[in-house]
Amino acid sequence: MKTTAKTVMLESIDPATDQVVGHVTVTPPDSIPEIVQHARQAQHAWSKLTPAQRADIIRPAAATLEEQAEELGELLTREMGKPLAEGVGEVRACAHGLAEELDEIIQAVAPQQLDDENSSTTLYHDPIGVVAAITPWNFPMMMPQWMVLPALITGNAVILKPSEQTPLIADAYAKILMDVLPEGVLQIVHGADDQGKVLVDSDVDLIAFTGSREVGEKIMAASAPGLKRLILELGSKDPLIILEDADIEAAAKYAARNTFRNCGQVCVSTERIYVHHKVADTFLGKLVEETRSFVVGSGMEPETIVGPMIHAEQKNHVIQQVEQAVKAGAKVSHGGHEMPGNFVEPTILTSVNHDMDIMIRETFGPIACVQTIENDRQAVDLANDTIYGLGASVFGKTSHAEQIARQLTAGMIGINKSVGGSSGSPWVGARKSGLSFHKGPMGHRQFCQVRLISTPKENS
Ligand code: NAD
Repeated sequence: MKTTAKTVMLESIDPATDQVVGHVTVTPPDSIPEIVQHARQAQHAWSKLTPAQRADIIRPAAATLEEQAEELGELLTREMGKPLAEGVGEVRACAHGLAEELDEIIQAVAPQQLDDENSSTTLYHDPIGVVAAITPWNFPMMMPQWMVLPALITGNAVILKPSEQTPLIADAYAKILMDVLPEGVLQIVHGADDQGKVLVDSDVDLIAFTGSREVGEKIMAASAPGLKRLILELGSKDPLIILEDADIEAAAKYAARNTFRNCGQVCVSTERIYVHHKVADTFLGKLVEETRSFVVGSGMEPETIVGPMIHAEQKNHVIQQVEQAVKAGAKVSHGGHEMPGNFVEPTILTSVNHDMDIMIRETFGPIACVQTIENDRQAVDLANDTIYGLGASVFGKTSHAEQIARQLTAGMIGINKSVGGSSGSPWVGARKSGLSFHKGPMGHRQFCQVRLISTPKENS
């Protein structure tokens, strides 16, 4: 991001070329309280509609997203760097998600009846008021949608503050929704932490935040005085455990894909790999073989599998972690060569341990760190030796892997697969990876105030 005091414009930079993709106008921080008041006024009429009526208003946006998927996908890729197929895929996933999730949200917040012999109780899921949605850059359309959609359908007004790295795609997404929504129900604030801080301090009722743990902690502290409600989805350091009885071919394919996808810039990227010593050599051989096929380059090149890092600061953080680890005894089993610009070669480190920063702090880059383990106990202890707890994966015979999975402290654990649950499951981080949920009925209800009305039973 580049801002200049004179023009107060925010430039969006292509991380593959360092060229300007476009710009948006930065929201002056002192205008934010007025934006919040405007949202509050608009929310009044919006809250009077039923969830089904609100869903009918929003539904046409799904078709617009689908129609514009190629064009929006290209913008997403230019701004964020991920391969074009993944950029277009993210837009399409939002279009499908929007179409499918509306009914799920309506059902999740329908009144519930709870009766016993003494009373009859109805549970309502009412809107909370004005929601601030503050989002990161790594899934620059999907992350806003995960918050904006349930917040709106449940009757709140929303102020979206997207990442300063990806303002254009967030702006395009918000405009598609604004075109169908009543004026003021959804507004967008552009800028960086200055705008984020003022929004958090403003008169909003709930802050839904996805981003780093460090910023999540700041938001939690800043929102304490007004007792604002919070949903925090934060960073992680996800482990992958490969047991002695795992399908090693499948484990290596998964490890490569889940470590290097989006250049490692995914909250549930595999950041630590623990492999049983009896299968370690075979696994490492296959992981290297798999990784060799990953072409690094601009997301706009059709053969690219691994795009650039979002910016130089993120690249430097990754390189520093690798250098520190190597100094402390880690071996580079693949990659590790210098690359120009914001690119980082997919790299495999072995002989790593938990005295190294790279096994403790979030990397958010294309580095596979492989530690050999002696037995299951050690795998569990090392996997849980983290302050985080978003996702984890275990590869092995199902019953064996399930038994290991139940000992892990992460919120979402995949067995012989990635972390996400079946449809309707929440997206949930444990420990310092989050507070509350996204997605699924449990996630949707986070945007509601629960109220109950109870009447005595006639005969009680
Ligand atoms: P970040 O925390 O730096 O920024 C996120 C957002 O917060 C941006 O919009 C930023 O402008 C804003 N912000 C910064 N300081 C603020 C402040 N003091 N008050 C209010 N807002 C502020 O994160 P990032 O670099 O954009 O994204 C990467 C991080 O997001 C990683 O840690 C990743 O693991 C995490 N993430 C988590 C999930 C999840 O589901 N748990 C999903 C995606 C990304």
